[in-house]
Order: sequence, then C-alpha cells, then structure tokens
Amino acid sequence: LVELDNVNKHFGSFQALKDINLTIPEGQVAIVIGPSGSGKSTLCRTINRLETIDEGGTIRIDGKPLPAEGRGLAQLRADVGMVFQSFNLFAHKSIVENVTLGPIKVKGVKKSQANDEAMALLERVGVAQQAKKMPAQLSGGQQQRVAIARALAMKPKVMLFDEPTSALDPEMVQEVLDVMVQLAHEGMTMVVVTHEMGFARKAGDRVIFMDEGAILEDTDPESFFMNPQHPRAKDFLGKIL
Ligand code: ATP
Ligand code: MG
Repeated sequence: LVELDNVNKHFGSFQALKDINLTIPEGQVAIVIGPSGSGKSTLCRTINRLETIDEGGTIRIDGKPLPAEGRGLAQLRADVGMVFQSFNLFAHKSIVENVTLGPIKVKGVKKSQANDEAMALLERVGVAQQAKKMPAQLSGGQQQRVAIARALAMKPKVMLFDEPTSALDPEMVQEVLDVMVQLAHEGMTMVVVTHEMGFARKAGDRVIFMDEGAILEDTDPESFFMNPQHPRAKDFLGKIL
C-alpha cells in the first residue's frame, strides 16, 4: 500500500534520509524507532508530502506516485492521515467542527452527514461527550484522541503517527495507545513512530530501526526487542529500556 523506492532527502548538504526502500502492505502496523535526529519524522513527512524527496526516488500510495502539487495533493492528504506529537487542533473551532472541517471542505460532504460521521468517530475514541467544547477545555489525551478522529474522518488508507504520546502526561498515554491498538486490530495500515514498547509488541507487526537517516534493522517486534542484530540497535535499546 505504501512503497518507497530509493528515497533520499537532503536539507542542503545534510542528508536526512539515505536510500530508503520500504514496502508496507495493507493492514500492516509498522513501528519506526530510532535515536533523535535519525530521520523518523522526516520519513513520515515525506510520505504525506509535507517534504519533497530528492530526484530519482519514488513514493507510491496504493500504486500511485505522490503528486507534485495541486488537486492531487489534497487527495493524497486525504488518503494519508497524520497525527503529530502536538495535537494541532484548530483552537477556535469546537471539537466536532475540528472533525467535520476536512470532510466538508476537501471532500464536499454535506454538513449533516459530516456531523453524524464525526459524532460516530468521537464516540469511537471516547470523547463524544466533549463534542461542543473547545480544544483548550480538553485534556491532552482527549485532544490527541480528537486529532485521531479528525484524521479518520477523511477515511484515510494509511495513518501516520509521529510520537503521538510523547507530549502527554503519563496518565494520558494509555488512553491514546488504547485507541491506536483498537485501530490496528480493525486492520488500519499504520506507520507509528514511537518508543512505547508495550504498544509496539501488542500492535506492531514490524519494527523499523533507523539511525542517521538509514534503516538499519527491519524485523518483527519480538526479534527486535529480544535479539537486536545491529550494534547501534543494541546500543539504542540499552538506553531506552
Ligand atoms: P526526534 O526523535 O528528535 O523527533 P527524528 O528521528 O524525528 O528525531 P527528524 O526530525 O526526521 O529526526 O530529523 C532528521 C535530521 O534532519 C535531523 O538532523 C534534523 O536536524 C534534520 N532536519 C529535519 N528537518 C529539517 C529542515 N527542515 N531543515 C534542515 N534540517 C532538517
Ligand atoms: Mg521526530
């Protein structure tokens, strides 16, 4: 479903991604892990075209190469949902409006239908009671669950999560991970940058270890955590476990 071939990314003379080749089949949950600055966020950002890639590489979603610009780009963004570390909700819109805005504006969904779908999604992530409130009135964990609902409202083919729980107070981490585990079990294709080992083992099909812009290890969670092969993976796990 997501295919990266010879993906390289330079910022000036600095190379943030080095020859990334990666295929993520439909329904797979790929965990991306690695030290700070290893290129995890950059990888996510190239997949939904928030960053361009160097010439010579290709990224395909569902067989279609990423569009350069224009209408195709809006469609791509609809197909690729993204949830960031900071919740990025629209501060001046209510919770339900945060979720309906994309479907109404980008997909031309009627307001009443968008509302019904938004309420069902808010129910699913456990914040339906908060629908009329403003983002600032919600806890961090609730806001992040709204951010997930907002991404799902576009009916994406793949969901990208970039450290979705790392800005949360510890007691709120689990409620967000629970929603993500549920999504994984429902068969959503997911790329998840996270250091949450419990989640990786429970929901992950695959662990991709990055360092200095390259993929150094690509294996199943059990093998990665129990028996990492690359010295830098061992070193990294020694620091975080
Ligand atoms: P973290 O765990 O801290 O979030 P990361 O693995 O997500 O790290 P990236 O944010 O992808 O790392 O950054 C990879 C490298 O690319 C870093 O060295 C970073 O400084 C550099 N980089 C990222 N974005 C830019 C940019 N817009 N301009 C220049 N350099 C950048
Ligand atoms: Mg990052």
